[in-house]
Amino acid sequence: MPKVLVTGGAGYIGSHTVRLLLSQGYDVTVVDDLSHGYRHNVPPERLNAMNICHTAALAELMRQTRPAAVVHFAAFIAVGESMREPERYFANNVGGSLSLLTAMVQAGIRHIVFSSTAAVYGNPHATPILETFPIQPVNPYGESKVMVETLLRWFDAIHHLTSVSLRYFNAAGADPSGALGEQHEPETHLIPLLFRAIMTGKPITIFGNDYNTPDGTCIRDYIHVNDLAQAHILALEHLMSGGATSQFNVGTGTGHTVMEVVRAVEEVTGKKVPYTIGARREGDSDALVAASGKLRQSLKWEPRFPNLRAIVEHAWGFAKKHY
Ligand code: UDP
Repeated sequence: MPKVLVTGGAGYIGSHTVRLLLSQGYDVTVVDDLSHGYRHNVPPERLNAMNICHTAALAELMRQTRPAAVVHFAAFIAVGESMREPERYFANNVGGSLSLLTAMVQAGIRHIVFSSTAAVYGNPHATPILETFPIQPVNPYGESKVMVETLLRWFDAIHHLTSVSLRYFNAAGADPSGALGEQHEPETHLIPLLFRAIMTGKPITIFGNDYNTPDGTCIRDYIHVNDLAQAHILALEHLMSGGATSQFNVGTGTGHTVMEVVRAVEEVTGKKVPYTIGARREGDSDALVAASGKLRQSLKWEPRFPNLRAIVEHAWGFAKKHY
């Protein structure tokens, strides 16, 4: 089976993808500096604790392991933090990606699957969101991903390095085994914070209930992390069989309000979520739902866990053991 190099493979989405790649027979090498990822998320013999900004070391690793392709997760992900410290986001996300691409060119590796984000669309004029909608990020995090998508176009035009950028909607859930799950520090994501509120009794703040949605809370497209991981494997296969550079939304195409997520968490856990309604969070749009037809049609992707209930059940399976 093909060899694949995964950056950021010890993080949340990366570790689920590594696990799925290994289960499908891929020979995986992980690069992760463990600044946010966890050593225990990756089989020890697969892990190289290294920062992707070290171009020469990366190129050397690629020459030794000769991967057919790279899957690139390693990045900072907190929107709020990016508004306070943009320089760190551009240095790590854009600088790190440029270093990785440079190493790939030096080592002759020709394909990359890139973790992009729905944040490239900013506050879109309509929903569901098509890949052809205007690219207009509203924070440095989203802008850093746009800049890498731009790098990728030039590396294809000049170096014939082909890429798939996957624009994630709201990654959620956990591997059904309960072995892997979402553990960010600090945690900013809705579902883990709802579990924490239940476990600590400290109310979670719901950011606004005066949006233009049926119950006034924001609508998001929650996608199971294993379905997201599978999209990476289909993208790899597309590139390794000669497919062209492209960009895809990765979401289910169905949205849920924050209050629907609260109710799903209450059903799954059998406990009441303590919450208060607070002010809107800066930058939040009413509704962000993917048009997922391009991914379904071009890469034959189908979510195995399209229901919010399964996503929350799997997330809870991990949370109750690890939070
Ligand atoms: N949210 C909330 N309270 C929180 C965290 C999130 O009400 O403490 C809401 C947030 O406003 C958004 C949804 O939950 O509408 C999902 O937020 P998350 O940060 O998980 O993902 P994002 O949509 O920002 O990618």
